[in-house]
Amino acid sequence: MPDAGRAEWFAQVRAVAFHPSLDLRLIGERRQDLTEQLPSSARWLVAGHIIEVLGQRPDILQRFLLRPRHIRLYTSGAAFAQDGGVAGGDYDAARERVQLGLGRLFEGFGGRLPGVAPFLHEFGHMLDAFDASAGTMGAGSGLLPGLSPRDGDLFDAEARRLFASGKALEARRYADYRAGAASRDADAPLPIGHPYVFQNDGEFIAGYLELFLRTPHRFAALNPELFAGFARALRQDPRHARENEAAYRRGAPLAPAGITIPDA
Ligand SMILES: [Zn+2]
Repeated sequence: MPDAGRAEWFAQVRAVAFHPSLDLRLIGERRQDLTEQLPSSARWLVAGHIIEVLGQRPDILQRFLLRPRHIRLYTSGAAFAQDGGVAGGDYDAARERVQLGLGRLFEGFGGRLPGVAPFLHEFGHMLDAFDASAGTMGAGSGLLPGLSPRDGDLFDAEARRLFASGKALEARRYADYRAGAASRDADAPLPIGHPYVFQNDGEFIAGYLELFLRTPHRFAALNPELFAGFARALRQDPRHARENEAAYRRGAPLAPAGITIPDA
């Protein structure tokens, strides 16, 4: 991140981390509330993820934080299961909350390569459930805030067009694969997302939000329209470190190449 933006970014994260509507709790076994033992890094990571997604959409963020938003982290698998946690983490629509093991927040930060981001995925489900016009949580329809005409002044028709067109391409790639295209043509493009996210619209938006932020270069290369739909909806392009490309695009004259090609 460029130095210029860093201080402002931290201020945004801090504002969410200590926002009165961020109902973030640590739950132990037998549903014991252990929030006073919540590591401060967990609070910062949750807030950082939220700003990573909505940092350029203060209008959506402000509406999102008008009411308490519930996030439950758990000390163990047993604590997670005893409080109704499902699979490896979930968004519980009835209780309007993200439920995730505390340890899963830190996944993807410790390895040699960026890994999965379970909180981003569950937050994608939560944003899908968020009705931006009413400020309430609902059933979700597989769309980010601003992609539905029901979102009123937040609705962005061009972002929806790009998203729909790009999603249709992923659906075609998935259907082609199922129809056996991969066995006929080894170069047939595969969907970007894991087969898991094709089971319904909710998993699709959660999975592709995670991919948009975690593997943006690959995402943009394989499905430029879908990438542009996310970029427009979230008003950001998460592709960083494009200095080499920028050096050409500036249009400044370049020195003649001084390289040689070895004999084949
Ligand atoms: Zn999911």
